[in-house]
Amino acid sequence: MAKRIQTYEAPGITVTFDPEVCIHSGNCVRGLPMVFDVKRKRWIQPEHATPEEVASQIRKCPSGALQYTLHDKAKD
Ligand code: SF4
Repeated sequence: MAKRIQTYEAPGITVTFDPEVCIHSGNCVRGLPMVFDVKRKRWIQPEHATPEEVASQIRKCPSGALQYTLHDKAKD
């Protein structure tokens, strides 16, 4: 059964995670542990870093499981 893509919203950024694509490299949890913590039920909490820091870490995800959209500043 296909797992659903998860969406995590925070001021300035929306992060999505596709569990079917993740290869469990651990880059995200090592790079920004305050944002990515698999011990929490809501395991991605983008509000614990700046949107730019979160986006920068997501670009290092080797599988593409993590994606982000930066919000238009005028709308926040
Ligand atoms: S960096 Fe990407 S592939 Fe690696 S554990 Fe995180 S989401 Fe999965």
